[in-house]
Amino acid sequence: MSSLTTLQKLEILADAAKYDASCASSGTAKRNSLGGKGIGSTEGMGICHAYAPDGRCISLLKILLTNHCVFDCHYCVNRKSSNVRRARFTPQEVVDLTLSFYRRNYIEGLFLSSGIVKSSSHTMEQLVEVARILREEHDFRGYIHLKTIPEADPQLVHQAGLYADRVSINVELPTDAGLVRLAPDKSARQIEGAMGKLRSDIVEAKDARKRFRHAPRFAPAGQSTQMIVGADAATDADIVGKASRLYDNFRLRRVYYSAFSPIPDASAVLPLKRPPLIREHRLYQSDWLMRFYGYQPAEVMQATEADGMLPLDIDPKLAWALKFREAFPVDVNRAGREQLLRVPGLGVKAVQRILASRRHRTLRLDDVARLTQSIAKVRPFICTLDWRPVTLTDRADLRALLAPRQEQLELFAA
Ligand code: SF4
Repeated sequence: MSSLTTLQKLEILADAAKYDASCASSGTAKRNSLGGKGIGSTEGMGICHAYAPDGRCISLLKILLTNHCVFDCHYCVNRKSSNVRRARFTPQEVVDLTLSFYRRNYIEGLFLSSGIVKSSSHTMEQLVEVARILREEHDFRGYIHLKTIPEADPQLVHQAGLYADRVSINVELPTDAGLVRLAPDKSARQIEGAMGKLRSDIVEAKDARKRFRHAPRFAPAGQSTQMIVGADAATDADIVGKASRLYDNFRLRRVYYSAFSPIPDASAVLPLKRPPLIREHRLYQSDWLMRFYGYQPAEVMQATEADGMLPLDIDPKLAWALKFREAFPVDVNRAGREQLLRVPGLGVKAVQRILASRRHRTLRLDDVARLTQSIAKVRPFICTLDWRPVTLTDRADLRALLAPRQEQLELFAA
């Protein structure tokens, strides 16, 4: 191991981190180094992106401290029984890399995770040490996202929150049975216990800052988690249910869904095929329905088909609308925001524009067309001054009319 250069370690440990999608840098406190104070900033753009093997850009600022691990989670390329090249950074090496990349404007901060070496607490200590050196010794003002380890000493996890903008604990799998089967060293109780502790620390810190201006910040960008989709038999309804419980119980900023991607030397208990990537996309759409469109989790579940899966050919909002046609058409000149948000094809911005425009005039179909991206999708579900869909909303073939047409790509197109 000692013979590896920093560059070789970086190659191994940046590559090993690419399977973790939960590293978006949104929602933190604004900090910058204007006035010559400190170094770094949480604002602006960096070149913080990485590519998963299937070609998706899943953002960056991320490396592992080490890809050695004493655990044996079947879906993980770094599990102890995996035959991959191993490497390990010291905390100081991670600090040096972060600062030198930052100074060159390559990154806007750091996303740091790790395999578990020696013990969970020992690993957590090393992760915290990186953040401590950056913040205390270098007055680093950039973004830090630390992946915390639920089995570690809670005191160390607490310290992580004092240095990091965001902390996350991966819930890993949607069901407890899936966790027992695919991550035998992990415990759902411990993961949720650690999330609960982080939640109360975040709430307490916010409360303290309301009363004392100088009270320390604690994970100002909150906590997030990641769920692997398609590695076990959990349905989309199971996943939506789990996500909504996590949002409710732990006030998570985000739940990330990561389609299980086959890894080298995959364990025999994993499915042979990856789930279609569009499934991950549909889950993100369902997540948005709950967070921004006012849908209850039970309503999102109603959009699933008999097997508990969201349809892949149409988005979950359209799937819901097609099942509950009695809620339509919606009069765009009279309906409230909540009702308008239910119309397939109307996003949050389009609804805002409609609400603003109708203060000045009664809207016609052409007006709505100008405010939306695709009037064809919206038409069966609305009425305007000059438009009423009559039987269109009830047509048996409405789904076929609205589903995006499948097209065979040209094999030899330039
Ligand atoms: S503990 Fe983390 S790094 Fe180790 S095998 Fe499990 S998922 Fe991979």
